[in-house]
Amino acid sequence: MSGSETTTTATAATTAHEVYAIKFGQHPGGKHGDYFYGSAAEPMDRPVQLDYFVWLIRSPGHDIVVDAGFTAETAARRRREHWCAPSEALAGLGTDCAAVPYVILSHFHYDHVGDLGAFTDARFVVQGREMAFWTGRHAARREFRRLVERDDIERLAGYGLDGRLLYVDGEHEVVPGVRVHHVGGHTAGMQIVSVATGRGTVVLAADASHLYANVEDDAPFGVLTELPAMYDTFDLMRRLAGSPELIVPGHDPEVLTRFEPVDGLEGRAVRIA
Ligand SMILES: [Zn+2]
Repeated sequence: MSGSETTTTATAATTAHEVYAIKFGQHPGGKHGDYFYGSAAEPMDRPVQLDYFVWLIRSPGHDIVVDAGFTAETAARRRREHWCAPSEALAGLGTDCAAVPYVILSHFHYDHVGDLGAFTDARFVVQGREMAFWTGRHAARREFRRLVERDDIERLAGYGLDGRLLYVDGEHEVVPGVRVHHVGGHTAGMQIVSVATGRGTVVLAADASHLYANVEDDAPFGVLTELPAMYDTFDLMRRLAGSPELIVPGHDPEVLTRFEPVDGLEGRAVRIA
């Protein structure tokens, strides 16, 4: 009897999550050939825009945030269009960043971990391998070093010393119905997030699929640590997602047109489930 009650409770909790994608900046003017790997880079000259997002998982009683974008200072230095601080964009959807219990960090590239300061009470969910990589011997090599900000890595190391990092090695259920999964390919410790929703399981890919074309056309992105692992990651996302359209890429402008806009935030935020 108590077993069936437990199951009922768990089902109610896991189907209650809402998921939102919130855009805070963009980088138009890129070319297909800049972003795709090998033969997938054809046609080289086709224009490609990257959008910058953070993601919100809303459940009764708390909001969980996935990734933290980057600051206006970093945007200016790297010549990215920056509409607002990601934490401000989240506030626009009613998120009290100071009350967020968990911020899941997909990986440590500059456009995913830059605006952490507003989450004063959060634990940051990271893969141990990601921290090990960015404090390890390869981090200073040019093709890796250019993708991170020194301040971000130092702040994260400090959070580690403060006991604020929730280290994961592989797969972990952060709260019922919200799981992180280590995936290879893009960075050493990249993780994706699967979320049980009323529409089925949503997969927040972040940079495991920057654009719809990566996972839909089996076309790898050009920034990677291991190509076979990136293909395996495409397969894992297809297995995890409740349906193909519930795989949400990390940087594709089409996210804003494939999902329902949030009232008053058209062109900035969509509800995925
Ligand atoms: Zn990345």
